[in-house]
Amino acid sequence: MNSLITKLRNERTLLQEEFSFLLDNSHNRQLLDEINQQAREVSQHQFGNKIYIRGLIEISNCCKNDCLYCGIRKSNRNVERYRLTTASIIECCREGYALGFRTFVLQGGEETTAINDNNLVDTVRQIRQEFSGCAITLSLGEKSAEVYQQLYDAGANRYLLRHETSNEEHYQRLHPATMSHSNRLECLRILKEIGFQTGTGIMVGSPFQTIDNLVEDIRFIEKLQPQMIGIGPFLPHCDTPFAQYPPGKMELTLMLLSIFRLMHPKALIPSTTALATLAPDGRLRGVLAGANVVMPNLSPQADRKKYSLYNNKAALGAESAEGLQLLAEQLASIGYKISFERGDFED
Ligand code: SAM
Repeated sequence: MNSLITKLRNERTLLQEEFSFLLDNSHNRQLLDEINQQAREVSQHQFGNKIYIRGLIEISNCCKNDCLYCGIRKSNRNVERYRLTTASIIECCREGYALGFRTFVLQGGEETTAINDNNLVDTVRQIRQEFSGCAITLSLGEKSAEVYQQLYDAGANRYLLRHETSNEEHYQRLHPATMSHSNRLECLRILKEIGFQTGTGIMVGSPFQTIDNLVEDIRFIEKLQPQMIGIGPFLPHCDTPFAQYPPGKMELTLMLLSIFRLMHPKALIPSTTALATLAPDGRLRGVLAGANVVMPNLSPQADRKKYSLYNNKAALGAESAEGLQLLAEQLASIGYKISFERGDFED
């Protein structure tokens, strides 16, 4: 089995059945330890012991979509909806800047009214003016090519849009009929074409997902060659149709993180909040599996609980921007340190 990992590291790809073997055996401790170690080496060769930080600002939990897995889906009546003003978003950036953040990630539910898009473009422009040296990442879902271009022209540099699953049938089981797999993929194509550093990814262990689906995801990402790869476990939310489904597995998530690191040595790969929510040591285990980014929460304290994508979402301690010292200490305990650089993708 060592030879399979070495082959992946050297050739950056495997045969279908070889990927399946790794995924099927993520519970094998020795195999997982070995691939995590190899992925760590590749990550350290590229980034040293630096972990880039991004300040995550959850700008709105208003969403027109009804994704079956997501706690802020349109039909969840138990959500207290909020939308941050531009002034409040800028204030979050100021706080983040003072703490040392040089990337701001604006994430939110999907809204596509002209008024909302215009506000967004204006917000990005204002952030760009005040924080000229910082990177602006957006994670705001599907928009028209025109709006993506306006956001780019206003100064946004990066865009995260997980494809969620590259299998169309599986996509349809996770989303309402109003959403289309082909549009999501088209959005990714447009984002890349415009020149955004583009990120995509999946939830591991989402309902109905098979090992074959995951191999398809690996192939999709291999073909797309995104600059960022975001993967985390699916976690159930009590007010969604998937409330009773089990969470994704830690081991399978760590296996996939390492596979992606070995295939994409230069990619920016976060150790996600979902992983940190799944287990107290999840964040660090993600780093030890080859992740090189963490995204502490910079949202206003009063609104954090309202951005509840899944149950018990971590937003305190090392998960929060105020907890940077704790995060630094945790990372130091495994030999890593926070990098305050912008941390762009480097080709
Ligand atoms: N609306 C934007 C979009 O669709 O890309 C950004 C916000 S959306 C809430 C961000 C990501 O959260 C999704 O891409 C999805 O993978 C993840 N997410 C949503 N619900 C989740 C759940 N129950 N468990 C794990 N991740 C979840």
